[in-house]
Amino acid sequence: MQADIAAAHAMPMRLETEPARMTAAVLAARSQGRRVGFVPTMGALHAGHASLVEAAAKACDDVVVSIFVNPTQFAPHEDFARYPRPLAADLGLLERLGVRCAFTPPVEAVYPRGLAERIEVGGPAEPFEGVVRPGHFAGVATVVKRLFEIVPADAAFFGAKDWQQTLVVKRMVAACGIPIEIVVCPTVREADGLAMSSRNAYLSPADRARAVALPEGLAAAAACWEAGADVAVAEQALREALDARGIACDYAAIVDPESLGPLADPRGPAVAVVAGRLGATRLIDNRPLPVRRVVDRAAG
Ligand code: AMP
Repeated sequence: MQADIAAAHAMPMRLETEPARMTAAVLAARSQGRRVGFVPTMGALHAGHASLVEAAAKACDDVVVSIFVNPTQFAPHEDFARYPRPLAADLGLLERLGVRCAFTPPVEAVYPRGLAERIEVGGPAEPFEGVVRPGHFAGVATVVKRLFEIVPADAAFFGAKDWQQTLVVKRMVAACGIPIEIVVCPTVREADGLAMSSRNAYLSPADRARAVALPEGLAAAAACWEAGADVAVAEQALREALDARGIACDYAAIVDPESLGPLADPRGPAVAVVAGRLGATRLIDNRPLPVRRVVDRAAG
């Protein structure tokens, strides 16, 4: 048994850039009864990405990881050009994690008909990031659909860190009838609570220190939530944590975790979502809030 595991890890990682060959490899593995897991990324890999790979490796026989900085999900003024691309280090990490195949396609392979095509998802794509980054989720839905065509895996693994994105992906998959299981994995955080993100590398040391306001605010909102406070009070606690560290708040809200609309039931479940700007860098984070008891003030 030990020898088998060692042998599996000794198998060199396949590097693929060509969609047709990638698809054929996945279909070949599945036709041999192997369960294939897929982790789409934009690279600049960190422990959050590694946790998705580990979850995929646990649930599947083979893991495919894509590294593709998707141009259609960046607005012209955003950081597409300067997005970090440390490919050699990324591939080294994937190899150490025992990944079976890394897929690193050029832009024209993913978009053979050009960049104009867009899937509009609606619903949970509309608020929050949908308002601040118009067109972003159309780009995400479009690239994920295309990647699922190229990598027809059994399951795909996404991070709860990008909560709204997981809802967008699930809705796109349901609308398009794509036969793939979507698995959402917990957010991996730094020691001080900051959610790991490739964009954390943009932060100056001073901004990195201030960024802890996001998880602090989420913890404050969760404490209010658990104490039975009104949603508006818990949202205010979140906003104040950003204010206290001079972070410009794009949004701070407690909403339904599936629709991202107002809570139908004040007991929840809910999710607290937040986005803040530190200089030129935007950070997002969220925290699921469990069902709670609320004080019935009318009866009090
Ligand atoms: P990205 O490379 O930023 O497109 O992210 C690729 C995948 O990794 C997405 O599903 C993200 O939600 C996920 N991810 C990013 N950061 C984290 C984190 N800190 N914890 C867990 N998953 C993450």
